[in-house]
This record gives sequence, C-alpha cells and structure tokens, in this order.
Amino acid sequence: MYKDLQSVPKAYNEPIKSYAPDSPERASIKAMLAMMKSEEIEIPMVIGGKRVKSDKKIAIHPPHDHGHVLGYYYKSDAEHVTLAIEAALKAAKDWAAMPWEHRATIFLKAADLLSGPYRDRINAATMLAQSKTVHQAEIDAACELADFYRFNVQYMTEIYAHQPASDKTTWNRLEYRPLEGFVYALTPFNFTSIAGNLPTAPALMGNVVVWKCSNTQVYSANVLMDLYEEAGVPPGVINLVFPSGPVGGKVVMEHPDFAGFHFTGSTAVFQSIWKTIGTNISKYKTYPRIVGETGGKDFVMVHKTANVDQVVTALIRGAFEFQGQKCSAASRAYIPDNLWPELKEKLIEQVAGIRMGDPEDFTNFMCAVIDEASYDKLALFIDHAKKDKDAEIIAGGEYDKSKGWFIRPTVIVAGDPHYVTMEEELFGPVLTIYVYEADKWEEALELLDTTSIYALTGAVFSNDRYATEQATKYLSQAAGNFYINDKPTGAVVGQQPFGGARASGTNDKAGSYLNLIRWTSPRTIKENFLPPTEYRYPFMEKK
Ligand code: NAD
Repeated sequence: MYKDLQSVPKAYNEPIKSYAPDSPERASIKAMLAMMKSEEIEIPMVIGGKRVKSDKKIAIHPPHDHGHVLGYYYKSDAEHVTLAIEAALKAAKDWAAMPWEHRATIFLKAADLLSGPYRDRINAATMLAQSKTVHQAEIDAACELADFYRFNVQYMTEIYAHQPASDKTTWNRLEYRPLEGFVYALTPFNFTSIAGNLPTAPALMGNVVVWKCSNTQVYSANVLMDLYEEAGVPPGVINLVFPSGPVGGKVVMEHPDFAGFHFTGSTAVFQSIWKTIGTNISKYKTYPRIVGETGGKDFVMVHKTANVDQVVTALIRGAFEFQGQKCSAASRAYIPDNLWPELKEKLIEQVAGIRMGDPEDFTNFMCAVIDEASYDKLALFIDHAKKDKDAEIIAGGEYDKSKGWFIRPTVIVAGDPHYVTMEEELFGPVLTIYVYEADKWEEALELLDTTSIYALTGAVFSNDRYATEQATKYLSQAAGNFYINDKPTGAVVGQQPFGGARASGTNDKAGSYLNLIRWTSPRTIKENFLPPTEYRYPFMEKK
C-alpha cells in the first residue's frame, strides 16, 4: 500500500529572487505587471472542473489604485455552493482510491510550475490585487506556496511510514484514509500561500475540497485554479466558489457530509463558525475536524541589554512590511526606559523615511491596506489615539484615500499598558509601544503575558543569557512561534512550523506533519494468518 516512500524527491525551500536593478527577474515581472494591468479579465467559479458564471459581476480594484479595474468575478449564491459540494462528493471515491504517489506527483508538479512558468503571474497578481511589494509577493506567493507543496509531500510520506508493530502470525497495518465527506477551506486575503495551502493540504491527503477564498484575494486565487488544472488535479477535487461568508457557511455547515474545516482568518469569524458546528453536530455523519489559525497581538519584548539598531530594524520590518497585515506582525512592543531615548529618536527618523505607494514602483517599502473597511477602521483607531490622554502618536498618524487605501506607518506610545491598541488586533501599520522601568523586567514579562487574549508570535531581544532564558520560560504559552533576537514575522515552511494557541487558533502548525495529520482518518487493519479453531483457553482446563 505504501511502498517506495523513500523515493520521493527531497523537499527544499525555493530560493528567493532579489529583483535588484538590471536582474532578469526584474525585467520579466515588470513586463507581466504591465500586461496584467492593461487587461480586464473575467473570473468564473470552478465547480467540477467547469468554469461557472452567475448573473452578478463584482469589480476587482488594486487597493493602491481603487479607480482602476483589474477584472470581475462572478458572485456565488447558495445554489453554487451546493453544486460545489455535489461535485466534490462525486469526485471523492476516485480521488481517495488514487495511489499516494500520483497525488504527490500532482503537487510536486504544481510546485515546479509555480516557481517556474507561473512565477511572474502569481507574483504580479498578488502585487496588483493584494498590494504587496515585489519582495513580499515573492516570499509569499511564489516561494512559500511552492514550499508548502513540496514539504507537504514529504510530511505525507513520513505520516504513511508510521505503521504499528505486528505479532507472530498477524500483520497490523494503518491505512491513512481521507475523511469521509468533504473539507471546507475558508481562506484570508493576506497570504496567497495560505489561500493555496488550505485547500491543497487536505487534497494531498486524499480529500475533496470546497474552497471559498476572501473577496479581496479572488484575483490570485484564479491563477491558482489554472495552476491546479495544469498540474493535473482532477475535476471536482478542489472547487472554488465566491459566496458571501455567511451564505457559504450556512450551506456547508448544515450538510451531512461536512467532514472538515480548514480556516485561517479572524478570531471572531472562527469562533462563530465553531459555535455553528457545535449546534449542528448531530446533523453530520462524522465529527468534523476543525483547524483554525486566527488573530494575533504579536509582541517584541526588549531587555535592557538589547542592541538598539537591531530592535529598530525588527520593529520596522516586523510591524510595517505588507502594511502590518500579517497575522505575525509586531503590533505591541515593551521597551526598557534605559534604551528608550536613543530608540525613540532612531525609530521616528527611520519611520519618517519609509516610502509608501504603488508596488510597481520598486523603491516603495509599503503599499496600501487591503480595502476601505480596513482603512476606515485604522483611521478611527488613529483618530482616537490623537485625542486619548493615554496615547501619544510619535510617528505617522496620517492617512489618505484619494487614490488608494494609504495609511502611514504609525507608532503610538501608550501611557497605560492596557491601552486598546496594546490589546486588540488592528491588522494594519500601527505599532504601540509601552515603556517600562528597565529594572522591572519580571513585572514586564508578567504584564506582557496577561495583556492580550492572543498567543501567536512574539520576540525577545536581549544580550543577557539569563534574561533570554527567563523570557523563554516565562512566556512559554504566550506565543506559538517565539523568536530570540529576530523579528516575529517571516516563518519559513520546513524551518519554523507556524501557528499559535490561546485565541490565536488550534495550533495545528501549517507547514508541518501536525497539520497534515488532521486530514486523515486512519483505519487499523489486523490480519490473522492462523486463526484459532478452539474457543476454550488453557486456564479453563479442570487440571
Ligand atoms: P476574515 O476572518 O475577515 O476572513 C477570512 C475568511 O472568512 C474570508 O474568506 C471571509 O470571506 C470569510 N468570512 C468573513 N466573515 C465571515 C462570516 N461571518 N461567516 C463565514 N465566513 C466569513 O479574515 P481576513 O481579514 O481575510 O484575514 C485577516 C485575519 O486573518 C487576521 O485576524 C489575521 O490575524 C488572521 N490570519 C491568521 C493567520 C495565522 O496563521 N494565525 C494567518 C493569516 C491571517
């Protein structure tokens, strides 16, 4: 059943291209950006391998240039979601019977297509419609997603290799079946790689999938569906629909064959869906597997021995790359008062120099936030901070929506360690700092650990090994990804398996065997070569 597991090509991390001036990759992506920007495309749903349109077209605009139209997608209603579930269930038997090495081949091919002929297209789509710089698009859409495909194949073989012991005259085996039913993948806007991984990880393990992407990630999702078709994913195995969240959720969560939920997004949405699943539990044929990676309020904890320049760089990259719209983005920092004067000066100076604008201008470090709702929410928090006596804005604080959803990188200093922006996830380029007394390190650790409901990522900067060790121990439940002298963003598949606990998710670690194991329902098979022919045992003899 699982022969030749060792023969699979070894997984590796896709090398990141630099896009430096005069590099061939720079010329090539610029040409692709110009071409894609000059067209208006139509994006249908994909149900059972067929492209399906509805009577409702929605325009797609670049966040940094909301007057421009990149194309249109066709909105789904409840009926389309039902059709997608039916298409998935129709494909389930053949896909489950497909030998593992053929499933592996499809996703290894997808990785090579993505990092080769599809590289420019997926990066350009992510830059234009999600407003990422070329570097942010490259590390996400091309490299991380290729890494997910390649490493997941390796993890699948490692799982299959786990087999039970057998006794004399018996043979015990574990058969790693897919779940019985379909998996619903519900994905966020902020990473093309996550949008790509959530449907494909269960599919690789033999499951069929209904995928609903975020409204603001449809443009790059469309490229992925072309990729899957070319890589050989059979019709019906991954079906992409575009309903509103509640419409899609209602059809899926009431279906008796709903067998798994693979989610990344906000904590509030995850909690409400978990409640619905609980309410509907008696409707399902099987207990649905629930995997959800959700929000964060990620910290940088600085010890009095830290290097100021290293901290400033980590804060700027950690808080402001991709406009702070990473679940792992540094959004609160605890700075000791002995370092504060120097750190403050350097931070203000460097934040003021950050270039922001269109991702097609490669000198920009930041682009626009994803949509008007996000822009309005961030502007509101900034306006409050301007007035609140517990807060002072020391950098940024400006915003402008005349051309795109632009929010300047903003640094708030909180007088109260429980000020709202120290606790709530804003999901934008806003960093809040609390300055503590340098000699009250342990109190600061306690404060950090008890301030937020989240526990996704966090970093400690220190050059005192005792302090580093103390923070590592003390904050053991405060982050699922803990960094020492490094920014809290930028986890790499195969190197830092990703996910958090507390309100940040089920911590099933995307990019590791721990995630893939949730998408299999093992069957134990015991075969007896010499079955007994006598029911009585020796202890039952009279003498
Ligand atoms: P979101 O929760 O708004 O949306 C996620 C998905 O759920 C989208 O497809 C959306 O259309 C759908 N949805 C929204 N409301 C719904 C509802 N009421 N019912 C059913 N579905 C609904 O999240 P987002 O804005 O796309 O992404 C940002 C969030 O994702 C942040 O909270 C961020 O921290 C989190 N995130 C977490 C991780 C992680 O690994 N922990 C990674 C990326 C993003």
